Amino acid sequence: EEFLNRLRLTEPHVKSFLHVSETVLNEADEIDRKIDRNEDVGPLAGVLVAVKDNICTADMPSTAGSKILENYRPPFDATAVRKLKESGAIIVGKTNLDEFGMGSTTEGSAYQVTANPWDLECVPGGSSGGSAAAVSARQCVVSLGSDTGGSVRQPASFCGVVGLKPTYGRVSRYGLVAYASSLDVIGCFGSSVADAGILLQSVCGHDKLDATSSKREVVDFTSQFSPKDYFESQPLKGLRVGVIRETLGDGVDEEVVLSIRGAISHMEELGCIVTEVSLPSFSLGLPAYYVLASSESSSNLSRYDGVRYGNQIVSDELSSLYGGSRANGLGPEVKRRILMGTYALSAGYYDAYYKRAQQVRTVVQKGFKSALDAHDILISPAAPSAAYKIGEKKNDPLAMYAGDIMTVNVNLAGLPALVLPCGFVQNGLPVGVQMIGAAFDEPASRFRNKHRP
Ligand code: GLN
Repeated sequence: EEFLNRLRLTEPHVKSFLHVSETVLNEADEIDRKIDRNEDVGPLAGVLVAVKDNICTADMPSTAGSKILENYRPPFDATAVRKLKESGAIIVGKTNLDEFGMGSTTEGSAYQVTANPWDLECVPGGSSGGSAAAVSARQCVVSLGSDTGGSVRQPASFCGVVGLKPTYGRVSRYGLVAYASSLDVIGCFGSSVADAGILLQSVCGHDKLDATSSKREVVDFTSQFSPKDYFESQPLKGLRVGVIRETLGDGVDEEVVLSIRGAISHMEELGCIVTEVSLPSFSLGLPAYYVLASSESSSNLSRYDGVRYGNQIVSDELSSLYGGSRANGLGPEVKRRILMGTYALSAGYYDAYYKRAQQVRTVVQKGFKSALDAHDILISPAAPSAAYKIGEKKNDPLAMYAGDIMTVNVNLAGLPALVLPCGFVQNGLPVGVQMIGAAFDEPASRFRNKHRP
């Protein structure tokens, strides 16, 4: 009730949700009854979770922020949603996003603009802006987002919450509306690292419905959280932290750099061994990402032809049925990506763009590999600036793309990364620091096992 009241109060201003469940209290009552009967209720019993609207839910609409899926109700739950329900969580609703996850501000939703709870005139980031704002405004406890090029981490930074992008393959993509399949991953928002870890614990693991989901054993992400003696036990002593030099220079707001430097000194005080590391390929990631993500999306989005899903513009002529449905159902940014991707994949330009971008991807992966051989984690800002005004970059796609510089490399390499609030800029907006780990090392066991056998 407390969360629902808060939601009623804040939602007219923040607009995080595209759909709010009407059965939350009934589900909570049912959990109470189970407890009375001594039945097992699961580790997330009664925890309110919001789910990004590109993750399929059988009992709620799933629009992916697009008009073309306006009345779409999937006949199934995404694996992550099924697991949440099995853990006893209550899905409070579906959150707003940039159409199909393409964007960095949530202004690209076909339905509404979400506001940043810290300053309602500012964007919450994107594309998972609704999920980040919902946690930030305390409309739910935790939420699921998706991260193809930063869509969990950048909004976490803008909204002052924790955002966790797991290793590619850690969480099943079954039921996640595909944007760029080799980069997409479902991620977690919470108001603490422990909350994000607990959420990840309940949704991850191998799934035979997603061939790219990992068969690795799921380790306990939360066992090391023992808040009482956490700092006394000096858990970070000896942690080798590499600060990525290329991320604290030109093009990054000075106040953001100051916040990150503050976080770095704090880590040093906690016993981390901090050194600078250079990733010369860092700036190559952005153009490579936009070629690859657009290419994959042009292929993935071909399924929205007006026949199988969502809105259809009726016509006797098949090509105008396709054309009409797409022209009417897809927004400008999505059309731009499809055109760019089709171009990059076309016979005459494939070698120059798509193939080249794949080669860059390998270079980026190798760069991270050697940096992470020498360090336990790598540090950078989550974004080059704090949140900016709604409308500021809406008509400048290249400026919007440039804001993804800190996050896209991590997706190209498939690595896990956590964004943690670490300070504020002068106008009071939060800043997040990004911590990048080795593949499948979300709990930092590499470091822990070495230091505490
Ligand atoms: N802003 C990036 C894009 O538009 C990343 C989006 C995402 O991670 N879904 O592609």
